[in-house]
Amino acid sequence: MMLSFFPNWESTNRQLRAENNRSMPWRNELRQQHDQRKSDSLWRSPHTVNSPPDREIQVGGRNLLNFCSNNYLSLANHPALIEAATAAAEKYGTSTSASHLIAGHNTLHAELEDNIADFTGAEKAILFSTGYMANLAVPDTLLGRQDLLIQDRLNHASIIDGGKITNAKVRRYAHTDVQAAADLLSKSDHHRKLLITDGVFSMDGDVAPLNDLQSVCQQNNAVMLVDDAHGFGVMGDNGVGSLGAAGLQPTGNVLLLGTLSKACGSFGAFIAGDAVYIDSLEQHARSYIYTTALPSPVVAASIKAIELLQTESWRRTRLHDNIQYFRRRAHQNKIPLTASTAPIQPIIIGDNLATLKLSEQLNQQGFMVVAIRPPTVAVREARLRITLMTDHTPSDIDRLVDALM
Ligand code: PMP
Repeated sequence: MMLSFFPNWESTNRQLRAENNRSMPWRNELRQQHDQRKSDSLWRSPHTVNSPPDREIQVGGRNLLNFCSNNYLSLANHPALIEAATAAAEKYGTSTSASHLIAGHNTLHAELEDNIADFTGAEKAILFSTGYMANLAVPDTLLGRQDLLIQDRLNHASIIDGGKITNAKVRRYAHTDVQAAADLLSKSDHHRKLLITDGVFSMDGDVAPLNDLQSVCQQNNAVMLVDDAHGFGVMGDNGVGSLGAAGLQPTGNVLLLGTLSKACGSFGAFIAGDAVYIDSLEQHARSYIYTTALPSPVVAASIKAIELLQTESWRRTRLHDNIQYFRRRAHQNKIPLTASTAPIQPIIIGDNLATLKLSEQLNQQGFMVVAIRPPTVAVREARLRITLMTDHTPSDIDRLVDALM
């Protein structure tokens, strides 16, 4: 009955849409871009998950074996982390309700920063709300117009974006090419020089030549920042990451960036290193200063995770057993892999549509393995990015390899 007051809803809507289209030509452009993206098999949409990010997840009412989570050590649903987060929510509430330098920094943040510094062998550590924001902070804060940032061509998008917001000159060197990095540094007369590299590369799983890069930086008075989002907790005997595995520490001219959302099963990020650099970030980093401090439940979960990295080393052992088992089975079955010793084990397919179809077939067979396509990876390098976790069983891996054949 109500509708009779508005008899022309449909035509009014049509008119509004037409007017909108006339007044917003760029809206049409966007629609065309979307159509193009769909016809190039590049359209992406979230897969809504209805469970914790465990080895088995529920998507669209179906249980799938999960081979695309960064929950490498299977800590994201660990009872001790949940207990710590719950207790922190009860004691400190759900939000910190202020940024670090106002009133958001509580005893949990202080404790976590100290624990990270101790664990990584750094003088000081500073928390960021995400790894993305930490990667914006360093070039923005430590470099100016007179300075140079060089970085690996395959660095994570957040490092590339850090390069976009700095006033420094930015150059990229070919993937893991130490000589190219050395040439860029030695031929430059910039005032400050910063090299940034992924520790473990997020889409390929290979490890940067950290010793050689560090020497090159040392020779050229440059600082090296290692983004070890995928190595922290996973690589090295004690889980301190790919820097530790290379026998290096975040001291002197080396800074370490780690995320707490992957192996640690929590959320947030840190930068650890010499206190003078960290103090500069605390004073000037806009992505640290102008945002709300991490929620206490998340920080408490991170504190517990850093403890478990050290006390439950069997998680790392089992993860690496799984990585080796997967590689062995893939090799036996002539499935081509990259040279990765990390939980990231991509299978490069190349064509977008072919990759998408494979991912859909795997989904039909009960596996979650998402197709990674440009711009996340280079054009014609679409891939299935398989990631392994501690809780996978050999039989999960057997099933996946059988499905991939
Ligand atoms: N660095 C690398 C190498 C990453 O893979 C990611 C995210 N996957 C980030 C930084 C960003 O971390 P966060 O998700 O905490 O923003």
